[in-house]
Amino acid sequence: MSPDEFRKNAHKLVDWMADYLADPEKYPVKSQIKPGDLLNALPPHPPEKSEPDSQIFTDFRELILPGISHWQHPGFMAYFPANSSYPSVLAEMLTATLGAQCMLWETSPAATELEQVVMNWLAEMTGLPSGFHGVIQDSASSSTLIALLCAREKATGYKFNEDGSNQIHPLVVYGSTQTHSSIEKAVKLAGIGRAGYRQIAVRPDFSLDPEALETAIREDIRNRKIPCAVVATIGTTGTTAIDPVREIGEICRRHGIWFHIDAAFAGTALILPEFRWMGDGLELADSLVFNPHKWMFTNFDCSAFFIKDTRHLVNVMSVLPEYLRTPSHGKVNNFSDWSIQLGRRFRALKLWWVIRSFGVDGIREKLRVHLSLARQAEQTIRTWSDAEIMAPSPLNLICFRFCPKVRPESEWNEFNEEVLKRVNSSGNLYLSHTRLNGIYTLRMVIGQTNVTEGQVNSALEILLNVKNQILSEPYKQELK
Ligand SMILES: *Cc1c(COP(=O)(O)O)cnc(C)c1O
Repeated sequence: MSPDEFRKNAHKLVDWMADYLADPEKYPVKSQIKPGDLLNALPPHPPEKSEPDSQIFTDFRELILPGISHWQHPGFMAYFPANSSYPSVLAEMLTATLGAQCMLWETSPAATELEQVVMNWLAEMTGLPSGFHGVIQDSASSSTLIALLCAREKATGYKFNEDGSNQIHPLVVYGSTQTHSSIEKAVKLAGIGRAGYRQIAVRPDFSLDPEALETAIREDIRNRKIPCAVVATIGTTGTTAIDPVREIGEICRRHGIWFHIDAAFAGTALILPEFRWMGDGLELADSLVFNPHKWMFTNFDCSAFFIKDTRHLVNVMSVLPEYLRTPSHGKVNNFSDWSIQLGRRFRALKLWWVIRSFGVDGIREKLRVHLSLARQAEQTIRTWSDAEIMAPSPLNLICFRFCPKVRPESEWNEFNEEVLKRVNSSGNLYLSHTRLNGIYTLRMVIGQTNVTEGQVNSALEILLNVKNQILSEPYKQELK
């Protein structure tokens, strides 16, 4: 491809990108293809000869796009959002163009220093107490794994890295029954082992019960186990429950345990003064992660990891072979020593672009729109006679279910499962679910970058229509 062909193609793609982001509603929000559809549509062997870009682009539109679920579609209310925005995409294009490896300061000084600047901005925006140092990771999963590796080494005086066995160091990591699966994964990957993970009971609002935590820690100490880390969540994935950070932090402080905060989704809301209460006690934390790639209009991937004592990172992860030695060593941050992977993308650029282009106030404004739309939606659902709210909704996730009185309660789980299935095959709305105390619960997140009141109302309408449709069909019990 010549520079001129690149220019021509790029202009064409940018036109397509602008149209796509302006109106993703043209597409079904959840991909409707079946397993194997794309596998069968693509040639099994790579082309020997160059193919025209126009053909590749046509195939992208005709073959690939139908297999994409549209995360930027305003009807995307499943899981948590993975938002994008125009400024983020602009920066990402430049990042791809530069194709820089940002593993060491020397390999692209601006990438390291910009990362330091934007992470300090984020710390200020979210009101983080002083003493934290930031680094961008690919995901909250990696961030948490790194936190637990540091905790493990701190708890064992750096012996685990050497000896590598939990027989000698019976470590315990604590979360709650609502803690994200990435913590269990990190516990396993860190060699602590599934047996070293305690999921503490939650209170009725699904937040971790600090008394139960204290009891578990005392019991483990009595049994000669080594409490290693506690992971508290600000905004659990199931219901956005907010663990009591200060109380948990004080327990950690008393017992000398690493305190990690997983605010992957809800951390963005700390930018709002009216949500700072969620972070009360953050000064007691050793590390914290939140994902601008979820609810801060910065396209995946961009996970903000903050840690107090960066020596742990370097002690745990720095391996310095001769070919990576640089003259600036010791004088600058080499973020590959703060991350699992050596090669690092230049992710700071899009974060910088997003924060400057929106302005902190612009970000706040968007978050407030989402939060107020969620309040309205929650109010509406509360007025439905055959639905109930299943968990407190402190942010923009609503947990609810239908409870049709004309059906036996024993069938409500199945009924809601059917609602979800039909909603998701409508092409206009995408929700996901969780189970709360065994009850099948629908999750609706209002956080799409440009979601409007009209779109939220049509989502609610779709839900009602689907529910009524199922109820209007012959009831299987009567058929039997
Ligand atoms: C989404 C989420 C994660 C996982 O985030 P990744 O960046 O995809 O690894 C972890 N914890 C919580 C609370 C989440 O909501």
